[in-house]
Amino acid sequence: MLAIENIVLAGTELAIAWTDGEESYLDLETLRRACPCAGCQGEPDATGRVVKPPVRYNERSFFLSDYQPVGGYAVQLRFGDGHGTGIYSFSYLRELGASSPGGRQS
Ligand SMILES: [Zn+2]
Repeated sequence: MLAIENIVLAGTELAIAWTDGEESYLDLETLRRACPCAGCQGEPDATGRVVKPPVRYNERSFFLSDYQPVGGYAVQLRFGDGHGTGIYSFSYLRELGASSPGGRQS
C-alpha cells in the first residue's frame, strides 16, 4: 500500500518520498490551485454538474503553514492564508506530481 516515507518542505515545493522509492516534488501554488476541498472545487448539484466556485488567493495563499497526515491515506495541508480544508489523498498527490514535472507551470 502506498505510504509516505518522508515529507519535506523545500522552499516553494513540497518534496515527498514514497515507500515505493518514488519521489514527488509539488509546487505549493500548484497544490493550492488543485485543492480538492468543496470550497475550491465545488460540489455537484442535483444534476451532478459541478460548478467551480470563484476562489480568491492572496500573497499568503501559496505558502504552507502546516501539514499533517490523515488516516494513513492522505495529507491535510494548511496554507499561509489559513485555508486548511483540503485533504490530499496519496494517489492525488502522486497524480499532481506526475502532471507537473519539476513543479513549474507558470
Ligand atoms: Zn480548498
